[in-house]
Amino acid sequence: MNRSSYVGRFAPTPSGYLHFGSLVAALASYLDARAANGVWLMRMEDLDPPREVAGAQTAILQTLEAYGFEWDGDCVRQSERHDAYAQVLERWFSQGLAYTCTCSRKQLQAYDGVYPGLCRNLGHAPSDGAIRLRVPELEYRFTDRVQGEYRQHLGREAGDFVIRRRDGFYAYQLAVVIDDAWQGINNIVRGADLLDSTPRQLYLQELLGIAQPRYLHVPLITQPDGHKLGKSYRSPPLPADQATPLLLRALRALGQPTDEQLLYGTPQEVLRWAVQHWDAGQIPRLSVIAESGID
Ligand code: GLU
Ligand code: ZN
Repeated sequence: MNRSSYVGRFAPTPSGYLHFGSLVAALASYLDARAANGVWLMRMEDLDPPREVAGAQTAILQTLEAYGFEWDGDCVRQSERHDAYAQVLERWFSQGLAYTCTCSRKQLQAYDGVYPGLCRNLGHAPSDGAIRLRVPELEYRFTDRVQGEYRQHLGREAGDFVIRRRDGFYAYQLAVVIDDAWQGINNIVRGADLLDSTPRQLYLQELLGIAQPRYLHVPLITQPDGHKLGKSYRSPPLPADQATPLLLRALRALGQPTDEQLLYGTPQEVLRWAVQHWDAGQIPRLSVIAESGID
């Protein structure tokens, strides 16, 4: 079959192992890309060495392989992309779009996560603090394929946000937009925890003159006790010998059909079947409670 123009990706952060929630996101992005005869790329978002778990990069890729996933080309690492981020940041800084913020966490406590622009016109040197990007007093909106219309007023709900941290590391928001564009990604499928990051990313795309990709945010998976699976809750690596049953659970979490016979199949067979039966229209919008036995 011919390749379509679809380019998707999975972009894990090695601050932990792959957990069931990230398996669901990986599966959705993989199936959506392959069902469209598209390309599926891999990018390791290793921007934050202090929070990186030793061995997590290798473990994540090995788990994905054990679960039957095949990505196109080599895995890109954001730790090798600092020059690209620096170039954009320096340009915006010299244009006055970005500025240095020396406020302490404590000073900002009262503002409830929305930075009030205290350092906007103070002219601090770039090396003196975090770098923030000025946001316009505008609403950014997009239509998510599962979540529907989503809107956020950047000035009121996000505020000028950090694009390079005080410790010198680049922020996720900046790197993700630069790299999605650089890799030619036109379809983003990821967890709904990033829904409220998307309007900031739309603004970054606008500044960079990048076409807006399509978005699909899959529901988050919660524990039966209400616990959210994920970064703050240190999940163990997914067991390699449970690939087939866990892929089937992930398919059910995504509202996709499964077949009893698949339980006896290899992970590759499950994925092949699931590509053929993929229907993004069946993905539930709200968070899904994990079947018991998944931590
Ligand atoms: N690296 C991010 C994460 O693991 C995902 C980024 C994205 O898909 O935009 O949560
Ligand atoms: Zn400040």
